[in-house]
Amino acid sequence: MSEIIRSPIVTILGHVDHGKTTLLDFIRKASVASKEQGGITQHIGAYQVEHGGKLITFIDTPGHAAFEKMRSRGAQVADIAVLVVAIDDGIMPQTTEAIKHIQAAKVPTIVAVNKIDLPGIDKGVQLQRIKKQLSDQNVLVEEYGGDVPVVELSAKSGEGVDKLLEMVTLVAEMHELKGDPDAEVSGVVIEANLDKFKGPIATILVRDGTLKRGTEIIVNGIRSKIRGMLNWEGKVLESADPSTPVEVLGLETVPPVGSLIGKDQLAIVAKEQIIASLVEKLRAGEDKSLKLVIKADKQGSLEAIEASLEKFNEEEKLVKIVSSGTGDIGEADIKLAASVKAIALGFNVKVAPTATKIAENEHVLIRTYNIIYELLDEMEEVIEGMIRPGEIEEVLGKAEIIAEFPYGKNERIAGCRILEGGFNRSSKVRIVREKEIIGETKLKSLRKVKEEVTHVDKGNDCGMIFDPQVDFIVGDIVESFRII
Ligand code: GDP
Repeated sequence: MSEIIRSPIVTILGHVDHGKTTLLDFIRKASVASKEQGGITQHIGAYQVEHGGKLITFIDTPGHAAFEKMRSRGAQVADIAVLVVAIDDGIMPQTTEAIKHIQAAKVPTIVAVNKIDLPGIDKGVQLQRIKKQLSDQNVLVEEYGGDVPVVELSAKSGEGVDKLLEMVTLVAEMHELKGDPDAEVSGVVIEANLDKFKGPIATILVRDGTLKRGTEIIVNGIRSKIRGMLNWEGKVLESADPSTPVEVLGLETVPPVGSLIGKDQLAIVAKEQIIASLVEKLRAGEDKSLKLVIKADKQGSLEAIEASLEKFNEEEKLVKIVSSGTGDIGEADIKLAASVKAIALGFNVKVAPTATKIAENEHVLIRTYNIIYELLDEMEEVIEGMIRPGEIEEVLGKAEIIAEFPYGKNERIAGCRILEGGFNRSSKVRIVREKEIIGETKLKSLRKVKEEVTHVDKGNDCGMIFDPQVDFIVGDIVESFRII
């Protein structure tokens, strides 16, 4: 892994007519002119400019509707918000709304006081008024003891725009934004539509890792292969690293704005597919029990796994351990599994290459794990699928968010009280506000007081950290559920 400092992603917010579009246009045009190329720039929802040798990514759809849409899907896109305030108008209703969004998202902010070229304005007086109005809304500029920079500019003439870009790079440096081009790719869809000729197209802002042409990605739960990538200058790209916006071709469907792309999405789909195929295999078999050949690194872990699997056999014999032992999964294990239609499970062990070959030929499924509860959770899902055919959704638990606490740099812990049922660390969860589902996610952490736990039941309080993040508020209901 090799972390690099990535360029900041900036969004521009503010009241209508305060000059957001003019500012975005000015910055974009200035950049094209400075490169002395009459390139065919295209609107893809974001663009990148260079300032003092450093790149800055601007999200090209101004306004907080887009900002909020993304946040509600758990996507925190912007690293820095530029709040545009027209010097003649000062703080207006949508400025206040934008401030609320910025504060909820906890993004570093720069205030851009725009239209300083307007004649007949007492700049000094107006500026003081704006700073006072901002401080009343808890946006503390330097003069009020805070750290929010204010830049005066004219988006029309361009005066002061350089200072804004300078400030953006300074704020970005202070926050040391990091990305890892070698990490698994993650990103957010910031724009998407159906093109008559090209089919579904979407602009993806890469957050981490490198997006490459030809690779498969999961967007909004649907697997697609990237057939082509273009940047905002219409240039064909082979790869896009952190903070780069790219328009991608080849998606199977048009994803909703704010859809996440990433490792988690992959893991969810991969797991769902595996479990579906497992269940299918078992249904095809004559006898309804799940047969397992288990290999583990140590006798101790083997015993723990066997004892835990026994709980599935309390009412009915659902799991049959055909054989178990320590050491890597070898040819003999696979041959045995093939003869009795079993699954080969490995815990903290490797699979011999010859065994993989035989498994492919004999259609034996091999699953390996490093964490016992993941093994158990997956087996539980398989067993559930075996005994309940058809796809049904089952709510496993309900909890109310009664408090929130900051966690790490920009995450939050939801302090929850379990009202019904229980929560497993591996459960899928969704956040419900006034009967409306505002986001679906998974648990990154489930804790009782400070201790990480795998399960919490009704009547208990616990802390949950969601991944991907969801924009929850106190009073929301968290439901854990599963689709069988
Ligand atoms: P938005 O609704 O915030 O995107 O605002 P626009 O960028 O569409 O600007 C609204 C109006 O203000 C337009 O008529 C612009 O020409 C004008 N405008 C924007 N910036 C400036 C500026 O710096 N000076 C002056 N005088 N007018 C501006």
